[in-house]
Amino acid sequence: MEKMLSLIVPVYNEEEVLPESFRQMDAEMKKIGYPYEIIYVNDGSRDGSMKILRGIAAANPQVKVRSFSRNFGHQTAVTCGMDAAKGDALIIIDVDLQDPPEVIGRMVEEWEKGADIAYGKRLKRKGETIFKKVTAFAYYRVLKAMSASAIPLDTGDFRLIDRKVADVFLRMREHNRFLRGMSGWMGFEAVPVEYVRNERFAGKTKYTLKKMLRLASDGIVGFSDRPLTLCGEFGGLLLFLTLLGLIALIVLACCKVPFPAWLWAVCGLVALNAITLLFMSLQGMYMNRMYDELKDRPLYIVAEELNMDK
Ligand code: UDP
Ligand code: MG
Repeated sequence: MEKMLSLIVPVYNEEEVLPESFRQMDAEMKKIGYPYEIIYVNDGSRDGSMKILRGIAAANPQVKVRSFSRNFGHQTAVTCGMDAAKGDALIIIDVDLQDPPEVIGRMVEEWEKGADIAYGKRLKRKGETIFKKVTAFAYYRVLKAMSASAIPLDTGDFRLIDRKVADVFLRMREHNRFLRGMSGWMGFEAVPVEYVRNERFAGKTKYTLKKMLRLASDGIVGFSDRPLTLCGEFGGLLLFLTLLGLIALIVLACCKVPFPAWLWAVCGLVALNAITLLFMSLQGMYMNRMYDELKDRPLYIVAEELNMDK
């Protein structure tokens, strides 16, 4: 049977971009040639987005719409679209045309050549504030340094994923979702597709600073235990330093060199604090394990099997 593509588009207060965005994406999907569906997930928009979506869906049977009762956030909206997708490959794209629709065709080519994941890698960002550029640049690098899973640099959620990857992904039902991290954790053969990120077609970013910080912390807390080990390492260092201080004081005392007696107290206090830090880090490790178990991710992911009896 012929393969099918699903395009997943989260929408939050995007009335200004929706009509043009649909026009461009639909044209690109037609050009690629596979049967396709476009799934819009309305993430609790309070503007006219839903009205526009109703119009588009009425005139285009390939368009499907799921609408949330309130704003649940971009990562949840994408997951909801993926839950509904029927395609053999799923493509996740922003509605604001910052991810150029013509890149979809190149992702599909990589998929045809056998890639399990084809992710968009931004060469340049056009029309974004210096603040966003600098924070994004720094964040991706800190995340990569801190995280054990392979999260490629300068990569957002714009990507194509094969059905077999999507099925594994959808088994992960954790509530704090950071899709790029989850994708990196899953492994599979991921191929970059480089592109220049456009300016937003119209309207303002829907990622407020608060939402961005939330996403950033979901990435770090969910995909790295570095902050915990850091706390322990700091405690260990502090303990080592107080030990040196203590030895110095003992030497001074033995040599009968006078020094103020409160230095003993300082050493004792710092040592106690260091021990507290060490135990906090230890406690954190147990909590981290509980969190890990709660996420209930698959133990392993088999990508291919040969000569296995079913
Ligand atoms: N979005 C969403 N829910 C939100 C925030 C954003 O569904 O709470 C959608 C938004 O409509 C767009 C995509 O997520 O399709 C990316 O958002 P935006 O372009 O505002 O973020 P930026 O590109 O500025 O990081
Ligand atoms: Mg955008």
